Amino acid sequence: MRMSQMLLVTLRETPAEAEIPSHQLLLRAGYIRRIGSGLYAYLPLMWRVLNKVSQIVREEMNAAGAQECLLPQLQPSELWQESGRWETYTKAEGIMFALIDRQERQLGLGPTHEEVITAIARDSIRSYRQLPQNLYQIQTKFRDEIRPRFGLMRGREFIMKDAYSFNADPESLKETYNLMGQAYANILRRCGLNFTAVEADSGAIGGSASQEFMVLADAGEDEVLYTEDGKYAANLEKAVSIPPEAEPSPFTTYEKRDTPNTATIATLCEFLGCSPTTVVKNVLYEAVYDNEKQVLVLVSIRGDQDVNDVKLNNFLASLAPTYGAQALIGLNVPDVEAQKKWATKALPLGYIAPDLSDDYIQGSQTVEPKFLRLIDETAVNLENFVTGSNETGYHVVGANWGEQFTRPETVVDVREAQVRDRAVHDPNQQLKTARGIEVGHIFQLGTKYSEAMGATYTNEQGAEKPLYMGCYGIGVSRLAQAAVEQSYDKNGIIWPSAIAPYQVVITVPNITDSQQSETAETLYQQLSEAGFEVLLDDRDERAGVKFKDADLIGIPYRIVTGRSLKQGKVEVVKRADQSSEDIPIADVVRTISSWLNQ
Ligand code: ATP
Ligand code: MG
Repeated sequence: MRMSQMLLVTLRETPAEAEIPSHQLLLRAGYIRRIGSGLYAYLPLMWRVLNKVSQIVREEMNAAGAQECLLPQLQPSELWQESGRWETYTKAEGIMFALIDRQERQLGLGPTHEEVITAIARDSIRSYRQLPQNLYQIQTKFRDEIRPRFGLMRGREFIMKDAYSFNADPESLKETYNLMGQAYANILRRCGLNFTAVEADSGAIGGSASQEFMVLADAGEDEVLYTEDGKYAANLEKAVSIPPEAEPSPFTTYEKRDTPNTATIATLCEFLGCSPTTVVKNVLYEAVYDNEKQVLVLVSIRGDQDVNDVKLNNFLASLAPTYGAQALIGLNVPDVEAQKKWATKALPLGYIAPDLSDDYIQGSQTVEPKFLRLIDETAVNLENFVTGSNETGYHVVGANWGEQFTRPETVVDVREAQVRDRAVHDPNQQLKTARGIEVGHIFQLGTKYSEAMGATYTNEQGAEKPLYMGCYGIGVSRLAQAAVEQSYDKNGIIWPSAIAPYQVVITVPNITDSQQSETAETLYQQLSEAGFEVLLDDRDERAGVKFKDADLIGIPYRIVTGRSLKQGKVEVVKRADQSSEDIPIADVVRTISSWLNQ
C-alpha cells in the first residue's frame, strides 16, 4: 500500500478522552475513531489487525475440530424467555439492547448466543452418534455496558469469537473444554501475548469449571491473585485462600461500651485497642429478584475481612426458587434513600449487631419481613468478640455465640481472598496480586440451557438425555488492543509481527531523489511478491514526519532508502528496539523473511 493514497491521519496530541496508553495510541496512530459511547470505527489499519487476529483464531479453532458458522444478531425474545434470561438481560443492570419490530415482536441484539445455538442443537442433534459437536462464529456482539471505556477494551459493540460445544456427558465436555483451553493458549502465543490462565467465577450455575485467559497489564480491569510457584492463579472474584489466624480477644467479660465515632472497623479497633480479627462486623445488603421480591441480607463476617460480592451474589442467586423467583437481578448495599422504601426507622449503621431486629423491616408483598442472616466461615469460631450494639455510638465486647447472640444458621464462604493470604494448596505460599485484561473465557456450562430449552439426544441405551454444553469466548477486538497495552514505547505502538497491519514500511526520506524512489519501488515490489505486507511511504512529507509516523503506527521493520544507498545498501530498523543495520539491497528480502520466520 502506498501511503500517499491511504486515509491515514495521525495525531500529535493525546486525545483527552483516552485514559490508558493503548487507547491513546490507537486513536493517535489512526487505527480507530470514536463514533459514540462505546462505539468505534475500525479504520483500515485496525481492520487489518482484527483480520489477522481473527485468522489466527480461525486456524486454531479449525485445528481443534470446531466448525465455523454465522448466527443471527437479532434474536427473538421467545428464545431468551425459554432459557429464563430475558428478564435478567433486559432489566435491572441488563446489558441486552432490546427492540420491538413493526409486528410488535420483541427482539434482542445478541450479547451472546447460547439461546440461538441451543435452539439449533435442539432441532439438529438427535443421537449420540452425532456427538460431540463444536460450532463457532466470529462476529459483532452488542452489550449495553454500564461503563463503556478504554476504547475497544469495553465497547458496546465489539468483535467476539464464540464457540459452543455439545457433548454427551461431563467427561466428553471436559475433553472439549481442555482442547479449547489449549487452542486459546496457542492463539495467544501466536498473537505474541504474555498471558496467564486463571480460575474464574462460573456465575450462579455452580459446580462447573471455568477459566479466564488474562493478559497481564496495569490497565487491566480484573485483579488476579497468584502464587509464585505457578500452581495457583485465580480471578479475585473466585480466589480462595487461608485467612490469617485471629488474634486472641483482649476481652473476657461481656460488656456494652461507649464507643463514640467508631462506625468503621479501623476507628473502632483504634479506640478499643483490639485487632480487627476480634470483631464481628455485620454488613447489610439488599437482594432483588426477578419477581420484584426484595430480601434484606445481614452478613456477619470477621472484621478484617471483606465480603466478595460475586460469591455472595452466587449464593443469593441459588436461593431464587426459595423466594418464588427465577433469578437474582440486583444486589446492593442500600443507601439511606433505598432504606426508606422498607425501613420502619433509621438503622444504626456502623453499629449493627448480628441480632438486628426484624422490626426494622416494614414487610410487604415485595419485601421479605425478616432479615436473611448469614455468617461467613471466618466469624463462626470467634470467641469474646467485639460487635455492634444496635445503638449508634456503642459496641459490645466479650460476646459469644450461643450466649449473647444466636449464631446465624446459614454458614457461607463469602470472604474475599486478599493479597498476602496463605495459599490453600501450600500454606507456605503467599498470594500475590496483578492486574489482568480478560481476553478469553472458557466455560463448562453443563445442562443449564439444554434442560431449560429441551435440547436432548438419545443415548446408546435409547434413553433421552440433555446435551452437555460448553461455551468459549475470545474478545477479538479487546485482544488486539491488549496487545498494544503490552507492547509500546514513548514513540508509539510495537506490534507483535504476527498481528501487525503491515510487516514492513519502506520510508523514502526524499521523494524527489530519483535513486531513493526507484530503490524503494523495487524493494516494494520484491517484498510484496515475496508475500509480505508492505507500506511504501511515498508521501511528500519531511523525513522526520515519516519516521515519527512509522514509529507511531508500530510496523515491525522499517527500510530507509537514505544515505547508505551510496554503498548499495539500505538502512533497516527494527521497531521493537530501534536497532538498525545497513543491508545490501540484494539481501533485503532474504534478511526480512528470515527475521519474520524466527
Ligand atoms: P467482562 O467481565 O470483561 O465484562 P465477560 O465475562 O462479560 O467480560 P464474556 O461474556 O465471557 O465476557 O465474553 C467473552 C469475551 O469477550 C471476554 O473474555 C472479553 O474478551 C470479550 N468482551 C466481553 N465484553 C466485552 C466488551 N464490552 N468489549 C470488548 N470485549 C468484550
Ligand atoms: Mg461483561
